[in-house]
Amino acid sequence: MTQQDVRVRIAPSPTGAPHVGTAYIGLFNLAFARANGGKFVIRIEDTDRARSTQRSEDAILRSLRWIGLEWDEGPDVGGPHGPYRQSERLHIYHEHVDQLIAEGAAYRCVCTPERLDAMRQQQREAKQPVRYDGHCRNASEAEIKAAIAQGQPAVVRMKVPPDGGTVVHDAFRDPITIENSQIDDQILLKSDGYPTYHLAAVVDDHLMGISHVIRAEEWISSTPKHLMLYEAFGWTPPVMMHMPLLRNTDKSKISKRKNPVSLEYYERQGYLPEALLNFLGLMGWSMPDEREIFTLDEMIEAFTFDRLSLGGPVFDLQKLDWINGMYLRQLTPEALAERLQHQIIQPKVQRLSDPEFVQQMIPLLQERLHTLGDFHTMASYFYDTPLAYDANQLVPKGKKPRETAKTLTEVSEHFQRHEGTWADAELEDVMRGYVEHTKWDNRSLFMTLRVAITGRTASPPLFATMAVLGRETCLARLEDAIAALQR
Ligand code: GLU
Repeated sequence: MTQQDVRVRIAPSPTGAPHVGTAYIGLFNLAFARANGGKFVIRIEDTDRARSTQRSEDAILRSLRWIGLEWDEGPDVGGPHGPYRQSERLHIYHEHVDQLIAEGAAYRCVCTPERLDAMRQQQREAKQPVRYDGHCRNASEAEIKAAIAQGQPAVVRMKVPPDGGTVVHDAFRDPITIENSQIDDQILLKSDGYPTYHLAAVVDDHLMGISHVIRAEEWISSTPKHLMLYEAFGWTPPVMMHMPLLRNTDKSKISKRKNPVSLEYYERQGYLPEALLNFLGLMGWSMPDEREIFTLDEMIEAFTFDRLSLGGPVFDLQKLDWINGMYLRQLTPEALAERLQHQIIQPKVQRLSDPEFVQQMIPLLQERLHTLGDFHTMASYFYDTPLAYDANQLVPKGKKPRETAKTLTEVSEHFQRHEGTWADAELEDVMRGYVEHTKWDNRSLFMTLRVAITGRTASPPLFATMAVLGRETCLARLEDAIAALQR
């Protein structure tokens, strides 16, 4: 392979906040591409229709740019291998699935959810592995057609050969052979006409000319299925490279239950993007001279995967604070002032320059104002960001910081799942829904929520305040409050 042929990608699913793990994998893809004169591509994997949103896609791209990653091709910048959003490539997956069916490498399945449930139940009772039993694999074409004609929803499954095995080569690991008998007849096309991750990733990596798939270790178990699909299509697979997972300090896989994981959190708290990127560069990797402070350009210049270590790197916030401090102290006073203005002060001032926002606050404040000057003292929490939390106030009497963080995480998840508007009555309903899920008494629950949202123990009516603050700010504050309890 010539150097020009290096093409790598990240493929985030737009189903939530921009994740540090995406930036981490993105950084190593970018460094590898740049070090080898290759191209770095972003593809949006929005095949989960229920969970994918445009808001999440926009936020992911914005945060990746904030941290300093630049891509050569992607949904926002275009490129010769587009579209780069899987929901816009459905016809491509349909053609490829038809080809597999015609060649006998895939088949339509019309099993009802009820039949599949009963099958799984039986398998569990018989202590057998839970997997598709191949019912439709042996059905005649006439049977399948008749079922579809009757309105039965159909999926397409991969026909896994009963014998033999698939050798998984990973550039960082010894080859392992997975017996085909261990692999389920995976769904390739769902009944809504959308592909599954497996089909879409393989078809796109091939059509987009991806030479190396550099992704997180958690996808390694999908690799045999992907290799089988390459085989069925008669394509040469890319080089597979699975990066170690980031870990919490207790070595468990990084999760928001223990660590803030959204890039927006780090931006809001005032971490410098180049410091966060430097920190991610130290996760399982080192410079040849072991120096810990380096720029992206220096990383690219020295980059090879030879110094990657697979032991799970710990996402240690104290280390990040140390690195961020190094970068902050290197800035000239003018540069520091500019960063403050840009990253911390400006967003706050901008909020107040929106007359509609100020007007929405008035009904909540008017009764309580003595002078105009009271406005800032009373209302600063409407626009201050980030809030300074007093952990003692966040934790209600008789509760522990840990369980408070857990409760706030669940509350935040309920609000994130809320699809309606951010009107106070709806927000109240969301909380009423949550109350049924928790053993917490209402008083404690509403107190910790109030402190998380306003930074104070007393405020105007909570849900009306939340309605004015808006979805983004409320979710951000919940995240900040949870992080304050985890520190
Ligand atoms: N959509 C997957 C994700 O969310 C992509 C995994 C891969 O890189 O193949 O990370």
